[in-house]
Amino acid sequence: MRSPGEELADLAGKGLKRSLRHLDSPQGRSVVLHGGAPLLNFSSNDYLGLANDEELKASYAANIQRHGVGSGASRLVCGTLDPHLKLEESLAALKNTEAALTFSTGFATATGVISGLCRKGDIVIADKLSHASLIDGARLSEATLRVFAHNDINQLEQRLRWARENADESARILVITESIFSMDGDRAPLADIIELKERYGALLLVDEAHAFGIIGPQGRGLGSETGLDHRIDLQMGTFSKAAGLSGGYVCASRSWIDLLINRARSFIYSTAPSPALAATITDALALIAGGRGDELRRALWARLAQFSSEAQASAIVPLVIGENEAALAASRRLQENGLLVPAIRYPTVPPGTARLRITFSAAHTEEDVMALKGALGELNENLPS
Ligand SMILES: *Cc1c(COP(=O)(O)O)cnc(C)c1O
Repeated sequence: MRSPGEELADLAGKGLKRSLRHLDSPQGRSVVLHGGAPLLNFSSNDYLGLANDEELKASYAANIQRHGVGSGASRLVCGTLDPHLKLEESLAALKNTEAALTFSTGFATATGVISGLCRKGDIVIADKLSHASLIDGARLSEATLRVFAHNDINQLEQRLRWARENADESARILVITESIFSMDGDRAPLADIIELKERYGALLLVDEAHAFGIIGPQGRGLGSETGLDHRIDLQMGTFSKAAGLSGGYVCASRSWIDLLINRARSFIYSTAPSPALAATITDALALIAGGRGDELRRALWARLAQFSSEAQASAIVPLVIGENEAALAASRRLQENGLLVPAIRYPTVPPGTARLRITFSAAHTEEDVMALKGALGELNENLPS
């Protein structure tokens, strides 16, 4: 039997061993590594700087007093409290869908939704760069899983044609993509994907984890920005990134949501999220959809424009380096210069594409971005050619 020590040594030998980074400070534009100096933080998904926002902290504290900290049971037993329903109502209103369902995390949303919708005999067709939670959901479902090359519309059509020829009459065919890809920061060609999924009579699930809050009118996501949201069957996302809190959601027609309430095991067999958290997410949604949200989005896009004159697709800017050790060395060098920019390695990204993943936040100042550009410039000069 292989021991954990052997397996860890094997990972370390390949430059793939991971360990936890302990912060002594709250999340923010600047963070303090345990026992260390402050670092400018270009690594979080807290795109609007809300994770430690004064307004949301006050709202969370008040919501704890009003609603309590725990929910006591799963949603279907006696854990559906007023804040859960209010949150789902405001989310459906914001996203302009008939209904919404919320989960404890985005990960639980993906696994619950996909395994709740699909079963053996169904076919799931996913973009190759889809998040681990989406792939795990497809595997859990026992549907046949086919991937298509990243954003490759021709290959998606081949897969759909194959699915049409091989699926039973009653089988579901589900296409899965992210709207903004988490490790590349690029956008899915939603118009082409929707045209195809309609032509082949398939369903579409779009994960807006890295778009919700920062892209589209009121931060409603890429589906909304492109005017295509009403043609997406299931729009999912998370409250853990731009919304600064935690949790996940799916927005869809009433009948899909009612079906998921009956079928999504990560919803059914898990205690409802804290009511104080649910109420605070509702407050975060109002903030994101309102004037302050607009201001924060303007600040975020201004920082991105300052970083590069090329138009950015999202708040994620990858610098692909290639080898694991080289990416780790680059990240260490930036840390010596006061910047936290993590190296992302396999299996989060494909082998040979280890990278620095730079993420921007509305909380960054112009000086922060200047410091980043300076440190990256120096890094470039010292990179072996
Ligand atoms: C982060 C992420 C998730 C998981 O969301 P959590 O709320 O962090 O569990 C799902 N999908 C994508 C694309 C993500 O980036």
